[in-house]
Amino acid sequence: MKIYYFLLYLAGIFCYYLHMRTSVFIHLDRFLRNFNAVKARIGKEKRVCVPVKADGYGHGALQIAKISEEAGAFCLGVATVDEGIELRKGGINIPILLMSQPDPQEIPEIFKASLTPFVSDSWFVNALNEQAVLLKTRLPVHLKIDTGMCRTGCRAEEAAALAGQITKCTFLELTGTATHLAAADSTDLKDIACTRTQLTCFRDAVNAIRTAGIDPGIVHAANSGAVILHPDSWFDMVRPGILLYGYKAAQENENSNFPYEPLTVEPVMELKSTVVMIKKIKKGESVSYGRIWTAEEDTNIAILPAGYADGLPRIVSGKWQAIIGGNAYPLVGRICMDQCFVNLGINTTVRRWDEAEIFGSSHDASALAEAANTIPYEITCNISKRVPRIYMNK
Ligand SMILES: *Cc1c(COP(=O)(O)O)cnc(C)c1O
Repeated sequence: MKIYYFLLYLAGIFCYYLHMRTSVFIHLDRFLRNFNAVKARIGKEKRVCVPVKADGYGHGALQIAKISEEAGAFCLGVATVDEGIELRKGGINIPILLMSQPDPQEIPEIFKASLTPFVSDSWFVNALNEQAVLLKTRLPVHLKIDTGMCRTGCRAEEAAALAGQITKCTFLELTGTATHLAAADSTDLKDIACTRTQLTCFRDAVNAIRTAGIDPGIVHAANSGAVILHPDSWFDMVRPGILLYGYKAAQENENSNFPYEPLTVEPVMELKSTVVMIKKIKKGESVSYGRIWTAEEDTNIAILPAGYADGLPRIVSGKWQAIIGGNAYPLVGRICMDQCFVNLGINTTVRRWDEAEIFGSSHDASALAEAANTIPYEITCNISKRVPRIYMNK
């Protein structure tokens, strides 16, 4: 394991100084600090599930899973069976929660990869149990309760009965009970009230399970927003995703008598490109498709080999900056599939092959998300497969 990280580290340094044309740098040291900051907030006795669905929110599921396992994460969360299989093939041993509903053909694979599926209805419980009996293999499951998100999960009033059905299946084991919050990242009073209602509903359902003489296993509800704003949602385990990747899903209200220090996290991902060409443009000439930008005076345009196919949203054309040599320069003209354009001005110190930060420490993916009218999740998830991930500082 140590040698593996050392090689990753060497590859990271190598690529960093080579200025590969367009790459994302994944700072594993920052991920670790974010993980420890979350642990420090929730308390040592509580567990952490690290969501690594969607290729670890674009950061590389296996790398994030490995460092999480080492850091003491209790389990990981994926959305598809294939995502779980990839982690097992990569040598991950801790439990992997399958948080979305798979289809029936995938059931044998759930057993092969030893995933722990969320179950929401009695059809799925039966289907899993039939396979378990066939294979004579025990399968842990988590009961998912819908308390107001109206996504997967059984209705709260059905939870105890469904838990009963699970425990009657000799090959199924109820190792956890969960819900998911719809607006835990909001400080709007109505949303806070809504989260409280969801949590009350969840607590009641868990109590009903216990009253029926059934152990609900590990009880968990909190996503990133709830880790920041709702301590009463932490139960036995939390499942913060975006927070561990370094974006604050919500801000603590400084006026309240909230008994916790504000959480500090650092963005793990940076997207960097290279000035591959500098072109002199005359006043009146327009740049890129649709001619949406015309030079008002003679200038220099840097061409960066990064476009919407790499994950730079086309909608931020003309609304974003690249950082080159510590200075911010505006993106101009339409962002193309593979290239974008930066206005350097007439007198510029920027030179061909200089590094250009598209997002990173100076202006991160959440600022880019704002410019694109979306959320940082969508920015990091959409960094496409062709952009190499370079792992730094383990
Ligand atoms: C994605 C996901 C999370 C993590 O959500 P964040 O907003 O990234 O913290 C937690 N639980 C479930 C069920 C999820 O699907």
